[in-house]
Amino acid sequence: MNNFVIAPAPIIGLPVQGIGDIFPVRRIYCVGKNYEKHVAEMGGNPAKSTPVFFTKSREAVVQNGSKIPYPPQTKNLHFEVELVIAMKSAAAIFGYGVGIDMTRRDLQAAAKKNGAPWDMAKNFDCSAPCSALVQADDIVNLDNASIQLSKNGDVMQSSSLDKMIYSVPDIIGHLNKTVSLRGGDLIMTGTPEGVGPVNKGDTITGSIQGLPEITVQYI
Ligand code: MG
Repeated sequence: MNNFVIAPAPIIGLPVQGIGDIFPVRRIYCVGKNYEKHVAEMGGNPAKSTPVFFTKSREAVVQNGSKIPYPPQTKNLHFEVELVIAMKSAAAIFGYGVGIDMTRRDLQAAAKKNGAPWDMAKNFDCSAPCSALVQADDIVNLDNASIQLSKNGDVMQSSSLDKMIYSVPDIIGHLNKTVSLRGGDLIMTGTPEGVGPVNKGDTITGSIQGLPEITVQYI
């Protein structure tokens, strides 16, 4: 085999709780507009909601406990706490985690206004903090689990997973009609209401009942 002309990118992984092994991340799909009250707070009509998908690069993953530089080109960086599905194969779920879909809201608003892609609002360095994963076999039931985000100890987002418009099987079904899901793919499943800004010095923690937390600090 020929040598690589530059060093290949490293594998990006997430720790798996309880076994010490690493889940290798392949692609990251994200669902937009999946909680009615969040659709409403963004000025949309929940009755007309259809699943919206976008992507993040695996290099956007940030591990629990990290310090993150406040990103460039925004004055309105927002948190969005979300359930993360980790795929074992096209149809089988390896496990779950808690992610924060960091969003440059000002760039997203401009993109929406101009009919332009959301990529620079959603897919940027350190835009996907994600907790350790719990294997699906180890989870009793996430159907009604609470989901929360706190900023500097104050609860900003609080809902439950049964409020998702599209369930976990719905989301996997929709995605598999559109792309070929594979083991290693992560799916961020959308955020409930209460999204808001993060500033330098803020610490945010995303949590879902039964899953490890994700905490990051902006510097
Ligand atoms: Mg989101």
